[in-house]
Amino acid sequence: MGRLVGIDLGTTNSCLSFIEGHDPVVVPNSEGGRTTPSIVAYSEGEVLVGSVAKRQALTNPKDTVVAVKRLIGGRFDSDAVQSAIQHLSYRVREHDNGDAWVFAGGQERSPSSISAETLRALKKYAEAFLGEEVDSAVITVPAYFNDSQRQATKDAGRIAGLDVQRIINEPTAAALAYGLNAGAAKRRIAVYDLGGGTFDISILELNDGVFQVLSTNGDTFLGGEDFDRVLIDMLANHFFEKHSIDLRQDSMALQRLKESAEKAKHELSSSDSTEVQLPFIASTAEGPQHLQMTISRSAFEALSEGLVRRTMEPCEQALKDSGLSAADLDDVLLIGGMTRMPLVQRNVEAFFKREANRSINPDEAVALGAAVQAGILSGQIRDVVLLDVTPLTLAVETQGGVATPMIERNASIPCKHSMVFSTTEDNQPMVSVHVTQGERPMSDDNRTLARFELVGIPPAPRGVPQIDVRFEIDVNGIVSVSARDLGTGKEQSVRITSSSGLTEDEIQAAVEEALTHEKKDQERRDAADIFAKAKGLLYSVEKAITEYGHALEPEMLSMMEERASKMRDAIKDENATSVSALLDDLESGSHEVANAMYSSLETSNLGESEDDFEDLDI
Ligand code: ADP
Ligand code: MG
Repeated sequence: MGRLVGIDLGTTNSCLSFIEGHDPVVVPNSEGGRTTPSIVAYSEGEVLVGSVAKRQALTNPKDTVVAVKRLIGGRFDSDAVQSAIQHLSYRVREHDNGDAWVFAGGQERSPSSISAETLRALKKYAEAFLGEEVDSAVITVPAYFNDSQRQATKDAGRIAGLDVQRIINEPTAAALAYGLNAGAAKRRIAVYDLGGGTFDISILELNDGVFQVLSTNGDTFLGGEDFDRVLIDMLANHFFEKHSIDLRQDSMALQRLKESAEKAKHELSSSDSTEVQLPFIASTAEGPQHLQMTISRSAFEALSEGLVRRTMEPCEQALKDSGLSAADLDDVLLIGGMTRMPLVQRNVEAFFKREANRSINPDEAVALGAAVQAGILSGQIRDVVLLDVTPLTLAVETQGGVATPMIERNASIPCKHSMVFSTTEDNQPMVSVHVTQGERPMSDDNRTLARFELVGIPPAPRGVPQIDVRFEIDVNGIVSVSARDLGTGKEQSVRITSSSGLTEDEIQAAVEEALTHEKKDQERRDAADIFAKAKGLLYSVEKAITEYGHALEPEMLSMMEERASKMRDAIKDENATSVSALLDDLESGSHEVANAMYSSLETSNLGESEDDFEDLDI
């Protein structure tokens, strides 16, 4: 069995960690970075992940997939997906089942299979670092993720060749990392996590190794990208006033604006002002135009005040749901890259009426906590218990389209609830059930998890059959449904008619595609190795011919010249098959040349040495 690791699969950055002894350790990527950009690019049949993908985004925006987590498990026509699409540089389409899929690298791909590329890269870094196979993982998700988003994340793990042993909530993971060495005393903490695309807030109680989530809330469509956009607009408006050109209409210019906006945002976290310079960003009748602008922190803060305020409403709701007031809390943890922004810190501190705890690394805490959970599962870490909650109310549609709650939000998981359904007409053979997740009073306004039919009900007067439908939320926050006919005691078959997510076939197809491209990548690497070897050999053979050709037998010389010229052509034509076929001949030929050369050199060298010895008078 391979190793179990913890993974923070972030919207912007991902991070992998594992337990060594009792402590979680972060695994660096192949470039030495402790987090890896969650960016996947398709370029000339190759799949690029992380910094390499990020670096080429400017020239390949349509096939560079950033922030795919905003789409994972989402319906194409949902408001959330529609608003995300407006700001993405790649194409998003509606898949046959109504889910949002990405069109990149010449084909339609599920967000799960794209996330799987990031997971697979992390898995490889870990395998190289640990020197052993990594085959299972604990993966974190925003606490506010619904069932489909969790399920889709789990699918991503499977596609990447990872057995996802647990899905845990990001703020809960951060609390685990924080609380591991916090002592046994009872503490109540708030975890405020503002990342690149999502916001999460959780209130927890830590008591002698028991981590109990009291409440959670958030916004899956609020994060760093929204702050970047404030700056992009500032820059674009500034340019528009001067030149009447909207840079946002030009995808290349927009990409450059995005990059500088994020850089400026980072600088404004530590400086009072920053300067943005974008030479040759557009051209007019007067020639090339440059963008230059100084942005002050106060100007940026004034325009992003509203975004920060939007995080306060979920905080208020979470506090209310936990039954606590700000004064009852012992600590507030800041997680996620955006909490480096001073305005965010000031607002959080004002809201919770205390200084925030900055002792944990905002970029790594979630992954470290995921590793702690992995340690709990593998038995390496004992005496720690995690009690999490479900973020959204699970409901069934009843008469008039009303969403009747069955499991309320913030209920501890795992949990179960059952409800008895009956028929409304005589001899009715089936009953339809519509399950939703969300806080709105009407079913249609919430997310449909499943629509299914209970079939094979024996003929009976209306209202007589009693079908017990059981809804379960497991420790991963994933919902499942089963039904039993109380009259016959038989399990009722549940036929799901409107399901989303990937089918088993689609998962298998994605796994296979990933394996094929892994094989292709390997072939490409092997070919590159062969070319490098061939070029090196050709160089030394050519050198030997020039320098020592005169000392060779004429047949040997012409044989070597012929082999070298064939190889030169094969390399020029980039013909990997010929290169590898010619390699052996050229190599054995060069050995023969070397033997011939050395046997002729040996005699003369010996002679010289003897002379030297004589000179030294030994
Ligand atoms: P995610 O959880 O979405 O993967 P992270 O927690 O890594 O995201 O946060 C990424 C976000 O944090 C990005 O929007 C990034 O620009 C922002 N960020 C990182 N460092 C800073 C900084 N010094 N100041 C302001 N924002 C920052
Ligand atoms: Mg994060």
